[in-house]
Amino acid sequence: THNNGVAPAGSLFTVNSPNVVYTEDKIHSKYTYRTTEVSKGADGKYVAVPRETLYDFTVDRKVPKLGVMLVGWGGNNGSTVTAGIIANRRGLKWQTRKGEQAANYYGSLIMGSTIKLGTDAKTRADVNIPFHDILPMVHPNDLVIGGWDISSLNLAQAMDRAEVLEPTLKAQVAKEMSAMVPLRSIYYPDFIAANQTDRADNILPGSKACNAHVEQIRKDIREFKAANNLDKVIVQWTANTERFAELIDGVNDTAENLLKSIEEGHGEVAPSTVFAVACILEGAPFINGSPQNTFVPGAIELAQQYNAFIGGDDFKSGQTKMKSALVDFLINAGIKLTSIASYNHLGNNDGKNLSSQKQFRSKEISKSNVVDDMVAANSVLYAPGEHPDHTVVIKYMPAVGDDKRALDEYYAEIFMGGHQTISIFNVCEDSLLASPLIIDLVLVAEMMTRVKWRSASTDGATTKDFQSFHSVLSVLSYMLKAPLTPPGTPVVNALAKQRSALINIFRACVGLEPESDMTLEHKLF
Ligand code: NAD
Repeated sequence: THNNGVAPAGSLFTVNSPNVVYTEDKIHSKYTYRTTEVSKGADGKYVAVPRETLYDFTVDRKVPKLGVMLVGWGGNNGSTVTAGIIANRRGLKWQTRKGEQAANYYGSLIMGSTIKLGTDAKTRADVNIPFHDILPMVHPNDLVIGGWDISSLNLAQAMDRAEVLEPTLKAQVAKEMSAMVPLRSIYYPDFIAANQTDRADNILPGSKACNAHVEQIRKDIREFKAANNLDKVIVQWTANTERFAELIDGVNDTAENLLKSIEEGHGEVAPSTVFAVACILEGAPFINGSPQNTFVPGAIELAQQYNAFIGGDDFKSGQTKMKSALVDFLINAGIKLTSIASYNHLGNNDGKNLSSQKQFRSKEISKSNVVDDMVAANSVLYAPGEHPDHTVVIKYMPAVGDDKRALDEYYAEIFMGGHQTISIFNVCEDSLLASPLIIDLVLVAEMMTRVKWRSASTDGATTKDFQSFHSVLSVLSYMLKAPLTPPGTPVVNALAKQRSALINIFRACVGLEPESDMTLEHKLF
């Protein structure tokens, strides 16, 4: 059934190459991955050696019927992303004081941005295509949404409580959303702020981790899948920020100990970790959109044992996204950043929860490490161990609601002892930034479940059987503030690098070279 070079139905392009074969249900590609291996000689000088690894990739072309289950479905993000998807699916328009507004997916990397496919054969102009079209991906309009919340409000009521969307839009989706009611969730009061107790009226019995909770969540996933005729379900934590769990040997250090701790009801197992474990056992990818250490070492080990996909932590929506772009620019421009002062105030329920010290601490940690890799990479500006000063402040200010304010001052040393101060005042609806990230995380994570690889390396690292990417999906990093990576591998925070990793991995899956931006075709003729 080979139709090499024949455009697959519904797709925007075909790769015409001896290394790429399209079959009815798969795209096969042979891809040469070129890297540079560096070693240091006895004389202290580097030797750089070009290396090549040959990979076979296969992409499953069948786009599944996909379900998303959100933990914290009734929150600002959960209700906003649900209304947004319904509005897009139905092509809704609504009146605002500035005129008519139509549903869109702005802010989604996959739905809102384009990538360069190549150069036009005749005009030599760039040919750009929507990111969504590089691989056969799920369309967000087709997602079936469900989930859990400790608050019993239906999604129409939750959307009102969130105070994010226009009444003229809400009126059009309210009926559909009032029929959406979150499943009961697990609530261990010690992990989120005490000020959340009031809304916890939709909870499963028991206030400590237990097997019954794991089994109930697994059952919920199975029932949701069956009820909606789904091929796959992806679960995402967009519930309150929890405090960090203490890492204790014998409790959460290994998969075996973590499972034992859940069985015995140990007090240091967070609700988010119980969700993660349930998803891993159920084979549903689980993504953590909040900053806490849901993925204790035992959870990561368990995911690897079950070949289950996990990703995290903490949506990178506003302040930190700017930071991971701006700091990348400054340091790569050779400017010595010496301090970053970041202030936030917000008035939504997330802000209320973060007004509690232990939960703030989780956020502070996840917001603080984002410049580490960029600083460490520049040994010209920074001595080993040297680091810019970095402070993060978050205050709860009910009046501003979901319209978060983020004020950042970047202070840098420039030529000959001069200084540059960049001050940013960023105002935006937090949940309208986070909702498209929730969509991107789902679409990319799902795509990665359909990509397999094997290597025919020249350096002996040959693998016979096709396998999946590592359980820890670091390819999701662009959307996440504190990217989880496979144990022992570096974290990349720089926004541009994160984007090109994602694009180039997707390109490799269809046998295309990475986009290097060299454009020699415009420079040598
Ligand atoms: P929110 O407080 O409006 O929503 C959280 C929801 O989770 C609430 O409805 C709450 O009842 C529910 N909940 C709490 N514990 C639960 C549990 N154990 N099980 C099920 N439901 C539970 O907050 P939000 O603005 O939607 O943000 C959600 C999370 O995303 C927060 O942790 C926040 O820090 C994180 N986050 C948000 C953004 C953003 O909005 N731009 C960016 C990064 C991270």
